[in-house]
Amino acid sequence: MPGPVYDAAVVGGGLVGSAIALGLADAGLSVVLLDEGDTALRASRGNFGLVWVQGKGAAMPDYAVWTRRSSDLWPGFAARLADETGLDVSHQRPGGFHLCLSEAELEQRAATMRRLHNQAGPDGYDCQVLGRDELCRRLPGLGAAVVGGTYCPHDGCVNPLVLLQALQGAALARGVSYRAGLRARVILPTGGGFAVGTESDRLAVGKIVLTAGLGSRPLGAQVGLDVPVHPERGQILVTERAAPWLDHPTTFIRQTTQGTILLGDSHEDVGFDTGTTAAVAHDIAARAIRTFPALARLNVVRGWGALRVMTPDGCPIYDESERHPGAFAVACHSGVTLAAAHALALAPAIADGSLRQAFAPFSARRFHVQAH
Ligand SMILES: Cc1cc2nc3c(=O)[nH]c(=O)nc-3n(C[C@H](O)[C@H](O)[C@H](O)COP(=O)(O)OP(=O)(O)OC[C@H]3O[C@@H](n4cnc5c(N)ncnc54)[C@H](O)[C@@H]3O)c2cc1C
Repeated sequence: MPGPVYDAAVVGGGLVGSAIALGLADAGLSVVLLDEGDTALRASRGNFGLVWVQGKGAAMPDYAVWTRRSSDLWPGFAARLADETGLDVSHQRPGGFHLCLSEAELEQRAATMRRLHNQAGPDGYDCQVLGRDELCRRLPGLGAAVVGGTYCPHDGCVNPLVLLQALQGAALARGVSYRAGLRARVILPTGGGFAVGTESDRLAVGKIVLTAGLGSRPLGAQVGLDVPVHPERGQILVTERAAPWLDHPTTFIRQTTQGTILLGDSHEDVGFDTGTTAAVAHDIAARAIRTFPALARLNVVRGWGALRVMTPDGCPIYDESERHPGAFAVACHSGVTLAAAHALALAPAIADGSLRQAFAPFSARRFHVQAH
């Protein structure tokens, strides 16, 4: 018996899939959003919540431009989500700091910024390298271990859990059919479209967009898409609430609007293990206390591990299958930062068929270059 028919199926209901589903619905497509369920690996529920520009794109200039574009789209996007869902995602863009605890760290950071500045051309790259004295003027309570850092006025943060809820709420309000607890098992090209097989259903769709995070790799293989993502664990600690004190997010420490302080995060190659370890928690806490000694007075109340969706060069993969046009893959490790651009700029390109041309530098074909 034929199942439901949609213009597009988005497979994976994390931050990436929810933003894409919303954008496709904005473009007038009928959309079904499938999500595997609570036991799945979900980066979207375990991240640090930064909307972060500085330092990104040294390996790919287009990524630096794209990240900045998303940051610029964020204020309007957050206002729109609030209007449509009543949810405040607590977006703030006060500018962010990266703080260095040794001269070697600072030199390496400054070299990355020089590279980004040089590749940006006449437009420049809006990020400053700051010495300790200037940092102390801007960030009260800085520890003696901080030797310098970098500042970018376009950096900010959001509440990522409310963001996920708001993206899905806005998508539902646009008519997206959200199917929780439903895993896409088989995707078959049907000539002009695709059949998506789940445990209970067979859906007929015109386009299919793989946004299944680490689950996209095996699904992509069914429709001629290479999605070479791998897990990278990050651990995060959360302290008890404190009075408002840190006005700017930093790469490793930020205060939420509720007063808690997030400390993180690690970069670990441990396969699909989402656990936590005392050794990494110790390192995170020790660095945080060297950065802001007053943090030693706060209790840590929670900690978790989550898996990043990493590509080989850390930049996003946006692709359409050459063998089966209409099948797309979207994978990235900055799904909070890029949520605005995904909904407002990437999804329209998927809807109107211009992705392959407009986002060519982001194709996974960049990993297939032959060495001579
Ligand atoms: C510790 C940590 C800190 C981070 N900090 C930041 C940050 O500060 N800023 C930032 O921008 N990003 C950050 N990130 C990255 C960000 O969280 C991810 O880029 C983003 O969540 C990826 O979202 P996703 O939707 O691609 O993947 P996921 O959240 O993993 O979602 C994938 C979804 O696909 C579903 N799925 C899988 N297979 C199937 C299937 N076969 N059928 C149906 N559904 C399926 C799963 O159920 C899951 O819900 C961080 C990540 C981590 C781990």
